Amino acid sequence: MTPEYAALLSAVDRFANLRRITSTQQVEGPFRRLPIAGPKFRVLQAHEWGNYQRDQDEVKGWLRTIAEGRGQDVARAISGRLGTLDAVMRLDAARQEIQTLAFVQGVQAAYALGVALLLSPSTGLRGRLGHCTAPGCGRFRLDLDVRPGRRWRYCSTPHRRRADRATATERKRRSRNT
Ligand SMILES: [Zn+2]
Repeated sequence: MTPEYAALLSAVDRFANLRRITSTQQVEGPFRRLPIAGPKFRVLQAHEWGNYQRDQDEVKGWLRTIAEGRGQDVARAISGRLGTLDAVMRLDAARQEIQTLAFVQGVQAAYALGVALLLSPSTGLRGRLGHCTAPGCGRFRLDLDVRPGRRWRYCSTPHRRRADRATATERKRRSRNT
């Protein structure tokens, strides 16, 4: 994982966790500041901020599906999106290693690339995505330090308890109905 891609993944995580979208700059700013933001990065008109609400719903849906272990459903949706990326080849002279750098030209391309990285087995990050299922929360967290051990699942102990209580209530409700 290059620092460029790690920064992209942090921006995707931040976008998915925004509580309320109030302006286009709020969404575009962190993506435009990324080292991989291309020179033709497309910004929306101020009144078009609602488009980013739909984009956020989309990326949250993808992340939720991955967290539930159904990555293959998301992969199909994303593969068509990556056609808008620009790529440059670079030879790292010190390591004598060829590198491909992708440039994103808009918010949609940025989060599609971020989620594609998350899905790719070579990054080893798929299992590092946590989704807090406490009622009313729904935060995502991407643990970029790949290390063994249990992955993050809930924001906090109170959220874990809240989620456990909700599961227990749901189980009771189901057993009554059968
Ligand atoms: Zn939570």
